[in-house]
Formats: sequence, structure tokens, C-alpha cells
Amino acid sequence: MSDWSKAVSAGFKPDGTVTTGNRGLQMEEALSFEQDAPGRTGVDLPEPPKVKDRLGGLARKGAIGLPGLSEPQVVRHFTRLSQKNYAIDAGLYPLGSCTMKHNPRLNEKMARLPGFGDLHPLAPESAVQGALELLDQLAHWLKTLTNMPAVALSPAAGAHGELCGMLCIKAALEAKGENRHRVLVPESAHGTNPATAAAIGFTVEAVPAKANGKVDVEAFKAKLGPDVAAIMITNPNTCGIFETEISALADAVHAIGGYLYCDGANFNAIVGRVRPGDLGVDAMHINLHKTFSTPHGGGGPGSGPVVLSAALAPYAPLPLTVHGKDGFKVIETTPASGEGAKALGRLKVFHGQMGMFVRALSYMMSHGADGLAQVAEDAVLNANYVLARCKDLMTPAFDGYCMHEALFDDRFLKDTGVTTLDFAKALIDAGYHPMTVYFPLIVHGAMLVEPTETESKDALDAFIATLRALAEKAKVDAQHFADAPKLTPRRRLDETGAARKPVLRWRPETVQSQAAE
Ligand SMILES: *Cc1c(COP(=O)(O)O)cnc(C)c1O
Repeated sequence: MSDWSKAVSAGFKPDGTVTTGNRGLQMEEALSFEQDAPGRTGVDLPEPPKVKDRLGGLARKGAIGLPGLSEPQVVRHFTRLSQKNYAIDAGLYPLGSCTMKHNPRLNEKMARLPGFGDLHPLAPESAVQGALELLDQLAHWLKTLTNMPAVALSPAAGAHGELCGMLCIKAALEAKGENRHRVLVPESAHGTNPATAAAIGFTVEAVPAKANGKVDVEAFKAKLGPDVAAIMITNPNTCGIFETEISALADAVHAIGGYLYCDGANFNAIVGRVRPGDLGVDAMHINLHKTFSTPHGGGGPGSGPVVLSAALAPYAPLPLTVHGKDGFKVIETTPASGEGAKALGRLKVFHGQMGMFVRALSYMMSHGADGLAQVAEDAVLNANYVLARCKDLMTPAFDGYCMHEALFDDRFLKDTGVTTLDFAKALIDAGYHPMTVYFPLIVHGAMLVEPTETESKDALDAFIATLRALAEKAKVDAQHFADAPKLTPRRRLDETGAARKPVLRWRPETVQSQAAE
């Protein structure tokens, strides 16, 4: 039999029994180590001249096991892998809480300007005045939009910003000689909130939510006392609802000498419309990679600046960028007195994620103050459009309007045999990245849909039509969901197995020894 007829009779199984494993121009990609041809290289280098061994026998004795590949093999390998990666540039990405919105190309152009892109972090201060001015401008925008007096730019992501803000609270309490150990966190909080507080030695207490998805202010008040260091609250919260009683909560925690930490991951729903400083917030991180675009996901760089109230500002981490009479100056080490004397140490090398700062400022300046207010309006409008168009077939978790994300529970799947996970997997076959599922934890079988402000009405209509069709199908054809996804290069994975018994292939020897086990 020819290779071709072998491939045809094998039914194009992507398991290596056919010549390529490819189907319909979908490339089955082996690990680079599995494509290894010992001795093959992309370039021919001349044999190096023999030199005297001056490494005292430390020179490499054998090959280190890198795969031998030609240049076209490497190019194809990484191009194929990149095509397997679903991205916001490929389609709608309704992942609630993550704010996966379009990243304007202008931001990328700005970040690649040689004056920013080629900067060396150790360049002398006099050579980087423009970059320091950019940090100063970004800080100005963040302080203005939040009405807060200070901002620490260096934290590398939201969770790191939480760490920064909570360390500032801890430092402020220590400076007052107070040893408060309790931190109150609503049950609906993102897992990073309690994790951060616990990581730096606080005792975390969960406070239940009310039936309408908001925090229970009375329950918080009942738990307040002289040993409470802070309340951590998310606004808009993870149910996509604005916490209307946040000021009362701020007053209550301030009255007992504690602080209000706000998780600002959902700032895109209120940017330009509400200033957290007006609500009594003491510290809040802003995920630049959510609210102010900048690409994220897949572990790409984040950036989580923290705005601080006057009470916490002295503890902001180093470095500090200050404007002197000869231009910008960076305070790198703790001075004996004056500005920065009470600063926390460093949280991050240099100033943080410079590329993200450029992108975020570019986003802010290209939108302007009015454009940023419209960002919030459109984000809320789009989410409410999805909610309104789906609520007769899917069950909204709470009554009324939402902010920037529409939250459904799994009551509409009751008695169908279809679970939230099945529903999400079926969306993949229908051409969509699933929404966030099973978060927030307080909602049964939660499906959290965040369309973001950058989707058009056409894109939303197509997505809504898919959600509605699947909700109808769930009532009559549970099998369709049990098998999903059917059209992906890999079928449904055993997620528990993948977490508990990961098969981390490295070199062919490792593969063989794992296969033998
Ligand atoms: C994304 C998110 C975080 C954590 O932010 P990272 O940048 O991923 O570290 C915290 N809280 C909420 C509500 C979030 O959505």
C-alpha cells in the first residue's frame, strides 16, 4: 500500500498511524524533541579551532540533548503552535473577570518605539528622562482617574498589587504600634484576596453575601473590632454588581481604625465615572492588563499598580520617581529621612513592566477622559445586552441590571443531564472560547460572561445566537454536550489526571521511561 492509501484507510487518525497526522490543514505537531535528527542544524558553523582547556576539566563532555532541527522545521514548529493558540485576535473571548479586550495596535507601535523598546534598565538617569516622564504621566492619569494621592507602579500583576497594598496596610499598623491580625473578605472574592492576606500573616475571615449578590454590610459590621486590620472588597464585585454600600463599609472600618482594600480588577466597568478615592478606599490595585488593554493571557506580562490614600502613601515601595529642579530623579534606596524614608523595600526589579506602562498610557491618551468614560459605559451596555437577550433561556444568577459582566447559574440546565462544564465545552465546538465557569464560587454552576466594550453588536448577536441555540439543545440532546468538544485537536481532557499525574515529556528517553511505568 502507498503511504497515501495507508493514510486514507487509517481514517486520518491524529495518532501517528498516518503519514503526517494532519487533517484539513490542521497540523498535528510533535514536540521538537520528537522531531530530533541528531546532527541536523539550521546553520553550518566551521569546526572551532582546538584551544587549550582552561576550564580545569569543566568543559562539556557530551551533547546536552537539544534536538537537531533545520531552520524550516523550527519556523514551522512555532508557527503551528501559535496557530493552536486561541486569542483575542482570533475571536471573541468572553472570559469573565479577565477582561479580554481588543488591544489597539497603536499601543504596540508606541511600545516598540526604539526610545522605549531599546531602553536598558541600567541606563543612567540623565539618558532616560523621557521614560521617567512617561512613568510620571501614567502615575498622574492613574491618580486622577481614582482620585488617590499616590501610586506604586512596580507590582507585576493584580495579585502582586494586592500584596503591595496589604503590606502597606501592615506597615502603617506597625508604625502605630498596633498588632491587628484579622482581615475580612467577602465569600465572593477572587481567590487571590484571601491568599494574599494569609500569605503575610493575617487571619482571613469570610463574610457571606446577601441573596442579591452584594456584600452584607451588617454582617461585616458585626465582625468589626479593634483586632481587624482591613476589609478587602471588590467593586464592582465578582458577581458583576456594584457595591452600593461601599462608603458605609469604609466609614465603619475607619471608625475602628482599620483600612479598606479594594480589588480594582473590574475598574473597566466604572473608569471615568466613579473615583474610588471618593468612596473611602485606602488601597486599590489596577490591572493595567485588564482595564487599560495591553495583551495578557497565556502568562503574558501583567502590571498591577496600586493607588494609595494619604495614610498609606509613605509606605509605597521603592523605587520612587520624583521631579527635582534638574529633571526626574529616582530614589533607589531608603533615605534616612524625607520622602521614601518609610518605604517598603522593593517588590520588583527596576520600575516594573515598562512595556505595559507605555501601552496603558497610550490607551489612556488615545481615548482621553471622555473616551475612557465611554469605555465603562460600553462595557456595561454590552454585558447588559447579553444578559437581556439570554435571560429567557438561561438563568441570570441575580435580578436586575449587571455591570460589565453577565452572570448565569445552572438552573436552566436542571434535569437536562448537562452541566456547566459540558455547556462550556460545547461552546468550543461552536467556535467560541468558553466563558469563566464555576466562579464566583457562591453561585451554583456559575457562568460568568464578560463581552467587554470592544465587541461590536454583530459579534455579540452571533455569540448570543450560539448561547441560545445551545441552551435549547441542552433540553433535547444531552449527548451532544457529553462528547464535547468533538472538533478540537484534543478531546475532553482528564483535568484531574493532568493536575495530579502530569506527564512532562522532555527527551525521548524520558518518554520511554514514563511509558514503561
Ligand atoms: C484578575 C483578578 C485578580 C488577579 O489579578 P492578576 O493580574 O491575574 O494577578 C484579582 N481579583 C480579581 C477580581 C480579578 O479578576
